[in-house]
Amino acid sequence: MKKVVSLLLLLAASDAGAQMPVELVNAERAKILQGVKSVPKLGAPGPVGIWGQIAFPILSAPDKDGVEIAVGAAAAHGKGRIILFGQNSYLSGNGGGDHARLLENCVKWAANKEKPRIGLKGVKAEVLTQAGFKTEEFGTVEKKNLSDFDVVIINIQSVVGAEEGAALIDYIKGGGGFIGGMTGWAFGQTSGGKDLALSHGVNQALMNAGVANTDMSAFDQLRAFEARVELPAFMNASDAISAIRKQREGGPALTPEQMRQGMNAIQIAMAAQPPERSNLKNAVAAALGNAGTDAPVPTAAAPLTDTQHAAARLRLGMETRMLRLMNADGIKAHPAHAEFPGKAPQDAPRIRGEVAIIPAIPGWHSTGLYAAAGEIITVVIPEKYADKGYAVRIGCHSDTLYHLDKWQRAPDITRSDTLATAATKTASAFGGLIYIEVPGRAKDDEPFTAVIQDAIAAPLFVLGKDDDETWKQLRQRPAPWAEMACDRLIISFPSEVGRQVNNPTELMTFWKKVVEAQDDVSNQASERQRPERIVADVQISAGYMHSGYPIMIPTSAAPEMVTFNRIKFPGWGFYHEIGHNHQRRTFTFDGAGEVTNNVIGMYCYQEVLKKDWLIGHTAITPDQRQANITKIKHASDKWQTWKSEPFTALVTYIQLIQDFGWESWRKYLHSFSDPAFGPEPKGDDEARDQFLIRYSKIVNRNLGSFFDFWGIPVSSAAKAQVASLDPWMPKGL
Ligand SMILES: [Zn+2]
Repeated sequence: MKKVVSLLLLLAASDAGAQMPVELVNAERAKILQGVKSVPKLGAPGPVGIWGQIAFPILSAPDKDGVEIAVGAAAAHGKGRIILFGQNSYLSGNGGGDHARLLENCVKWAANKEKPRIGLKGVKAEVLTQAGFKTEEFGTVEKKNLSDFDVVIINIQSVVGAEEGAALIDYIKGGGGFIGGMTGWAFGQTSGGKDLALSHGVNQALMNAGVANTDMSAFDQLRAFEARVELPAFMNASDAISAIRKQREGGPALTPEQMRQGMNAIQIAMAAQPPERSNLKNAVAAALGNAGTDAPVPTAAAPLTDTQHAAARLRLGMETRMLRLMNADGIKAHPAHAEFPGKAPQDAPRIRGEVAIIPAIPGWHSTGLYAAAGEIITVVIPEKYADKGYAVRIGCHSDTLYHLDKWQRAPDITRSDTLATAATKTASAFGGLIYIEVPGRAKDDEPFTAVIQDAIAAPLFVLGKDDDETWKQLRQRPAPWAEMACDRLIISFPSEVGRQVNNPTELMTFWKKVVEAQDDVSNQASERQRPERIVADVQISAGYMHSGYPIMIPTSAAPEMVTFNRIKFPGWGFYHEIGHNHQRRTFTFDGAGEVTNNVIGMYCYQEVLKKDWLIGHTAITPDQRQANITKIKHASDKWQTWKSEPFTALVTYIQLIQDFGWESWRKYLHSFSDPAFGPEPKGDDEARDQFLIRYSKIVNRNLGSFFDFWGIPVSSAAKAQVASLDPWMPKGL
């Protein structure tokens, strides 16, 4: 009873801008978590944004950097109370662990009563009736229905109207309790492409209390949420913002952990905000203050490091997080853009471009247009495709660098804005190539024209449309970044690098064949929906190059990517990364992650370049292969050695292909869609067994002893299946 009084007192004080004291937060959280130790992760939940003055996390988990992310939050609003979860399954109480207990506590806390009348919408909560609570389902979310209950539990995945939101927040303000939840990142799919921050009326209404669902994802590796009464203060974004402001004004310095925690909370809270809600953004901008002309800019030659430039990195990290979410009107060119991705010429004409969009092709559609840093562009699409998940992206350098201890460029320099209305204005503080992003679900939409205004022309070569002669004109276009495209691959590189290229037709024909060869050998030709992409960047998020969409490479490798002649051609690293994009669990068990992609990559030397397929890497020369054979022969734990040394493991595949030809590898990868080989393997043990069984059957030899030699574990049942075939070992083993 005493705690309730303090919470109400605090409500009265909230106009003064005070945040809730930590003791009070812990006391309220302790009530909600009483008797709760652990609650399983249910489905694929997302983080809940928290920034209200009386709003705090109730259930969270640390990410890999130890930053706590909330999957559930509690808040007070007016005389009422709110509990919000990042997945609707948390509303049922039947998830196991202490889930039932958590829901009972939530009900009592939100209703502020021991025996509340509970209304349910879109929720089955048998655990509550079993625990002796009175529950009743109700129809529409409107005043007369809500007033029957002390607390309502609503699955807000599908309760989305603005009127429902208004009725609900009125009910809460007047003293009602609300428990809700949804999977925010899935809203785009469940709503036909709508944007959560813009189009979810109930989520928007909850923002009055400073909590909301976001469309972010998190908790990938997590199994369960461990309940803790003590959680970091800076999980509330407003707490974090005021601490940052105080630090700037000479107050106590934040520790790196507090800073990471605070920035994460701000980023999550910002992700929930629709463009017209500017309070939080303004607060962040005010906390950061003005940049000052002497703020250091990260460059390749003089990176910003964790140890030497902590303050500058903090500031820049906050700026980039905010810039990604700011309205176009508020954006000016960031000083760091001149270094990377580069300055667009001041005198380049600002033009209007029309771009044909084919919705059957998902992903980034190149436009041959560039947005200059800090300049507003306008994108117009047909009204009927507004708020259907289409977006405008500025910038191809989509890797973020927040986690790296050295920054050679600003940590986050691209942005993507939902095309929520027929005309959308946007801008990037860093500038970049302009793309129309097509969602996967749009595949049946009719082709349309997107009109882009106030952009700069960028060099774009399209195989089959342009030729080497027209390229001589195209490459003179003024934007600092250029692209070459075919229907299988699009490459992005600095325009100055592209201006050296005279044979784009030959080059892109080569790249087309590379992807086609990998599609074919891995049996993915019919799966392909969009071209692969490779983007050069001054610094990438991990490794020398990495796979994904786009594949990222260092700018130092851009000349190799665009050079194709009799002596020089793009080599191993590129095929390796494209190979990663072709890997599937069926043939890539644990330990083969950096191996099967190389096998697919080596096929390009054979099929595309028509060369000896063993010339690609110094680690697979005859001497190196022999050394790796000797190593595995003497290894105390063969499997451990195989799993941890990709080039040792690669020899296994090389020996198979040397004796049985590339056709055997092709048949093996194609076998997974051939019912004659039985069902696809599930899990690593089955995948290794199937590697033995399928390859043995394909080459009509018993490969059991060969697998033993290399130490690849397979079951005796798998060995028995191929026991009747003639045994095989390569020469010299
Ligand atoms: Zn790799």
